[in-house]
Amino acid sequence: MVTDAVDQLHLRAWQAAARVPDPEVPCVTVEDLGILRWVRMEGGVAVAGVTPTYSGCPAVLAIELAIEAALREAGFEARIERVLSPPWTTDWISAEGREKLRAYGIAPPEGPAGKAALFDVPQVTCPRCGSKNTTRISEFGSTACKAQYQCRDCAEPFDYFKCI
Ligand SMILES: [Zn+2]
Repeated sequence: MVTDAVDQLHLRAWQAAARVPDPEVPCVTVEDLGILRWVRMEGGVAVAGVTPTYSGCPAVLAIELAIEAALREAGFEARIERVLSPPWTTDWISAEGREKLRAYGIAPPEGPAGKAALFDVPQVTCPRCGSKNTTRISEFGSTACKAQYQCRDCAEPFDYFKCI
């Protein structure tokens, strides 16, 4: 009975934290991106483990504050623990998260993480028409985490979530 109550509380804390949208890409949640690693209860305090995406990405602090706020709103005392190891890669983005990105008009990262390439320009699929005939317009899209591409077939400009 006691265990059940604890599990319930834990689940409620996880759900409150998991539905926090990414501040830069509000169509996906911190759970979709895989940056919310865990939530555990420590003596009544909900502690959320968060792995930053791109190091130096200014969104990291905003994400942590948003998760903390969501936990407080759900009635928890909250604390964030930054988890730096293992480092986040785009492989952690869930299949559902990738679908949401595509539906939002952002090409999800392609190719194995870690191979992203300084020299090599990845072949990116247009999120609108599915064509691979795309070209990079700019190394930086709406945020430093994304590059801007344009489709040669449907002429749609779009953001590509850089693979790391
Ligand atoms: Zn297209």
